[in-house]
Amino acid sequence: MNSDSKVPDSASPNLAVIALGSNLGDSGQLLHAAMDRLQAFSEKPLRCSSLWQTAPVDCPPGSPAFVNAVVALVPREGETPESLLAELQMLEKEFGRSPKLVFNAPRPLDLDIIAFGNEVRATPSLTLPHPRAHLRRFVLAPLAEVAPDFVLLGQTQTVAELLAVLPSEESARRL
Ligand code: ADP
Ligand code: MG
Repeated sequence: MNSDSKVPDSASPNLAVIALGSNLGDSGQLLHAAMDRLQAFSEKPLRCSSLWQTAPVDCPPGSPAFVNAVVALVPREGETPESLLAELQMLEKEFGRSPKLVFNAPRPLDLDIIAFGNEVRATPSLTLPHPRAHLRRFVLAPLAEVAPDFVLLGQTQTVAELLAVLPSEESARRL
């Protein structure tokens, strides 16, 4: 975990949060490489969580375990949720992601925008804040490492508080 004092304040409204996931290939190595690349999208040093091994949720039977992580960044001048999503999707492709054929099929890299400042979207291509983030241990556990005091738009509790009351059926183990 990066605890550099120059990193963004975890309660900052200008923070963007990206969730990373992988359950195909050398997931740990892919996530570290992806985090290195995400630095290019941030005005300040990224705040990176640890890697977490998590059980698949809503995936086809027999799906491999996931490795998940979260980064918090400060979007560059002029960046919009749409421009960031387009860049993340290019990165997913570069890391070997093929077009979706089966719902939640194993993937080498998934990059989801959990939050982008106070921006709200409800279009077919972009929902912000991410509708299920506050319910998912694989998002909240790593997010609590980098931004425990962050309050997702639409929530009243901080990330740390949400995690503390989460029902425990989803497993997540810090690697
Ligand atoms: P999932 O992330 O649910 O496993 P995909 O990565 O295949 O599935 O994403 C499916 C679609 O979700 C993408 O085409 C993207 O346009 C859309 N989407 C909607 N909201 C978001 C968001 N906040 N972050 C990333 N993708 C999103
Ligand atoms: Mg995705």
